[in-house]
Amino acid sequence: MTNEITFPLISGNISMDLVNTEVVRHGTRHDLLTNADHVRAWFDTLIMEKIIFKEQFSADIEHWGNDSLSILRELRQVLREGFEMLADGKELSSDWIKHLELLIENAPFTYQLKNDQLIPTPMGKPENALISLIALDALTLISSGQLNNIHRCANPDCVLLFIDTHGRRKWCSMKICGNRSKVTRHQRQKAQNK
Ligand SMILES: [Zn+2]
Repeated sequence: MTNEITFPLISGNISMDLVNTEVVRHGTRHDLLTNADHVRAWFDTLIMEKIIFKEQFSADIEHWGNDSLSILRELRQVLREGFEMLADGKELSSDWIKHLELLIENAPFTYQLKNDQLIPTPMGKPENALISLIALDALTLISSGQLNNIHRCANPDCVLLFIDTHGRRKWCSMKICGNRSKVTRHQRQKAQNK
């Protein structure tokens, strides 16, 4: 069953969501994208959350999930490097941006208007279409300035990244790391008071 895999922190920004398919649980790094089933589960999650649409792909995921695995993982690595640089207050290289632009050339965009929403629809192989949509999202996050507000989770063991424009959020999510930190602090206080 592919639906058993759950992905943390689906943000609606597919480039962020791809990077966040690597997680740390109980101190061990887990990769949630290591086979075609994982790709399908991730794809289905994005469809369910209306982040992508079936109409954007020329074939069913069953037929190309496997072909997209290695290029997705490669892109994830590239995105993580850039995103972590920004989270650490460094500048992106022009090569990094160029790389994303070139990925879009493999499946450039046409457009559909669906329920008053403009849907970018890449042409070409579906695996390249998915890559194009992810690259477009990352470039859009840059052009809109949103990546200036990208942060690493305050839990040093956590690898999740998030965007916070208010500047107050410390954790990837309260549920994943915030509560855990509260519990640890509480336990420490209890130990001190004994
Ligand atoms: Zn976290």
